[in-house]
Amino acid sequence: MSAAGILLCAGSSNRMGFDKLNTPLCGKTAIERSMDALVAGGCGSLVFVVNDASEATVRALSVPVPFAVVRGGEQRTDSVRNGLSKAAGDVAVIHDAARCFVSPDLVRACIEAAETTGSGVAAIPVTDTVVRAENGAVETLDRSKLFRMQTPQAFRMDRIRAAYETEGYATDDATLYAKRFGAPTFVPGSEENGKLTTGADWKRAVGRLDPPAYGIGFDTHRLVEGRDLILGGVTIPFEKGLLGHSDADVLLHAIMDAILGCLKLGDIGKLFPDTDPQYEGVSSRVLLREVGNLVQKRDMVVRHVDATVICQRPKLAPYRAEMESRIAADLGISPGAVSVKATTTEGMNDEGKGLCISAQAIASVAHR
Ligand code: MG
Repeated sequence: MSAAGILLCAGSSNRMGFDKLNTPLCGKTAIERSMDALVAGGCGSLVFVVNDASEATVRALSVPVPFAVVRGGEQRTDSVRNGLSKAAGDVAVIHDAARCFVSPDLVRACIEAAETTGSGVAAIPVTDTVVRAENGAVETLDRSKLFRMQTPQAFRMDRIRAAYETEGYATDDATLYAKRFGAPTFVPGSEENGKLTTGADWKRAVGRLDPPAYGIGFDTHRLVEGRDLILGGVTIPFEKGLLGHSDADVLLHAIMDAILGCLKLGDIGKLFPDTDPQYEGVSSRVLLREVGNLVQKRDMVVRHVDATVICQRPKLAPYRAEMESRIAADLGISPGAVSVKATTTEGMNDEGKGLCISAQAIASVAHR
C-alpha cells in the first residue's frame, strides 16, 4: 500500500508572537523537520497545506518525493479537506507541522495500523488527574478512559475521505473518523511529539537540539614590584603586581579564554593582540565586556563560569564575592552564575614561590 502525507502548515502562530512554522529552529524550520519525518516514516508523496507565509517556505524546500501544494481553509477541518482532495495513496497520514519532533517510527506505526485496521492515530494516556469544574462543583474524571490526541493520524484514504464528506467539523481527524466508522486504533504517541506552541516550547526545543558549549581557559603572569595587583577586576593591596601588556588580570584572562573557547573564536591574544597599542594598559574588564557582547550578538548567554586562582600570597578569600559580582556585571549575568575559588600550591611550583599567579577557568555558553 502507498501512504500520502498531508502536512498542515496553515495554522496561525499568534500564540508565540512569532512565526513558529517558518522561522528556522537550529537551522531547519518546523515544516522541514516534519516533512523529513513523514518521508523517513514511509510517506511516498506529500500534500502541503499552506498559507502565504508557509507557501514561501515550502516552495524553497527540496522535497524528496512527489508533492502538491494547496491552500488552507478557514478551520483545520477545511484545511484537511483541501489536502485530502489532492492526496494520492491508499493511506492518508495527516500531521500538524507544529509537531516537528515526531519520529519516523511513530509515523511508520500509524501507517501500519491504518493498513491493517483502517486507522492508526497517535495518542497518549492522561496521567494527571483531570477534573471538570462547573458551577462551583468539581467532578474528577476517570483518567483511565482519557487520552491526549496527537498527530500523525493515519487512515485508509477511502474511509477518511468519506468521513470528511459527511461528518462536519472537529479539532482532529480521529473524531470525524469515529463518528462514521467507530473508535480508531490508538498508537502510543510520545511527549517528544508535543506541539511547538509557546515561547517556552521553542526554548526547550533549542536546548535539546543545541546543548550548551563548554570552554576552558588558563593563564599565568609574573609577579613583579611596581605594579598594582588586579584580580577579577578588583585591586588588591599587595607589595607586588602582575606584569603584562594590559593590567595582567590573570583571572579575567582565563575566563575570557574559556568563553571564547565556547564560541570557537580562538583566544584573547588573537582578539586583543598585545602588539596593538590600543590595548596597552587597558583594564581587562573592558575586554571582558567585549567578550560578553560577542556572546550576546550570537543570541547566546553565558550560563556559568567557574575559576580557580593559583596564588600563594596574598589571601584572596576576602575579595572573592566582589570579583564574582564584577565579573557577572561585565558579562550581564547573575552573580550566582559565577564562581571564583583560590588555592595555594603549598609553597611548591612558581606560584608557591611567589614568582607568578595563575588561573584556570571553565565556562558554558548556551542559546538564550
Ligand atoms: Mg594573560
